[in-house]
Amino acid sequence: MNIKAPRGTSDILFDKADMKQFIEKTAVILFEQFGYHPIITPTFEHTELFQRGIGESTDIVQKEMYTFKDKGGRSLTLRPEGTAPVVRAYLENGLASKSLPLKLYYCGQMFRYERPQAGRYREFWQLGVEAIGSRDAFIDAEVILLLVTLLKKLGLKDLELHLNSMGCPECRKSFSESLKGYLANKTEHLCDDCKRRARVNPLRVFDCKVRGCQAAIKNAPLISNFWCEDCSNHFETVKGLLDDMGVSYILNPALVRGFDYYTKTTFEVRTQSLGAQNALGGGGRYDGLVEEFGGLSTPAIGWAIGTERVVMAIEELGVKLPLNSHIDVFVAAIDEARKKGFNLLNNLRKHGISADMDYAGRSLKGQMKLSNKLNVSYVIIMGPEELRKNTCLIRNMDTGEQSEMQISDITRWAKDTFKVRKAGFDV
Ligand code: AMP
Repeated sequence: MNIKAPRGTSDILFDKADMKQFIEKTAVILFEQFGYHPIITPTFEHTELFQRGIGESTDIVQKEMYTFKDKGGRSLTLRPEGTAPVVRAYLENGLASKSLPLKLYYCGQMFRYERPQAGRYREFWQLGVEAIGSRDAFIDAEVILLLVTLLKKLGLKDLELHLNSMGCPECRKSFSESLKGYLANKTEHLCDDCKRRARVNPLRVFDCKVRGCQAAIKNAPLISNFWCEDCSNHFETVKGLLDDMGVSYILNPALVRGFDYYTKTTFEVRTQSLGAQNALGGGGRYDGLVEEFGGLSTPAIGWAIGTERVVMAIEELGVKLPLNSHIDVFVAAIDEARKKGFNLLNNLRKHGISADMDYAGRSLKGQMKLSNKLNVSYVIIMGPEELRKNTCLIRNMDTGEQSEMQISDITRWAKDTFKVRKAGFDV
């Protein structure tokens, strides 16, 4: 068989899978400390959700969506991002009746038909939070602090927090007009896509990666010159709160994130350790999205980070994560002792100890070799001789010391030896 994983997708294996799990576990602990609850939404949604939510003229909607017709002729799209689905779920399930803000977090695959390169894939994982139902600048500060704390907890240094405000629809209107006027004089330097964007949604010219377009917008008007008093005050408060918490940031008035729904505070965390794809994550307010989907006017804010990019940055910086060697104890039982060994193995697991045994008919020597490879701390050896005496041998793999012990004493020994990491379970 010569079928490979589709372009832009990959299998996440071994160390990378361990790192991904570690990142997610760390994130979940932190999310819960900050009072966020999990939400799980479908992997595909009605196409219209993203067209309306992200914006018709964004790159994502124009070029990057995995859209298909199902057998019932419905147009569905593999989700390219997590915010629109969360807002849809918020409305569909009447979550506005809960006490607000509703603070949610998610973890899942996203899909974008992009040109794959290091740090850019067609299927990738995001971790994100959404706080729906508060216009308070304190919640802006909270979500930003949460983002920075998570990345720092994962050992990432060299982080740059870029901060901007996209203003409200009022400031955006005058900004858009001014930008349209500016771009009207640059038409000959713009790519065909941007010629259209310049007329329909000039903000999206900022997303274009074509060199000519990037040069053309170099001296474009900036949103900061169009903030109304309310947006200006809101931004000042957010900055002040970040200052108070010692979160440093770079004011970047050219930070225009790729979705149309952003309003007011917008931010992105970048790292020097990655090349072209240096944004680890970002987000912002989307005070108009709930209304856009038919709900009451409801302010909200959120962010997402890309797990693969975080893994890359961790590797690039050589951060050593405390990944557990999974198995504490290997039960090396042979011949007729296997049955008793299997019993002992599951008894250890019942008490929360990670343990494993051989299922491939290895000799004792082979099982010792495997234990070494698995980097276990102890091997419990059981052969016919031990079976007869109701004992086993315990070998400390670090020191090489070996001692004999009654089977009935094993659980106590194991509990004393290992700080039990997980709660035990009963079957
Ligand atoms: P966005 O949803 O575009 O704001 O992206 C948030 C984060 O998701 C980015 O900073 C990346 O870390 C990650 N990300 C976005 N697109 C991709 C992609 N095609 N491949 C891998 N990661 C991505």
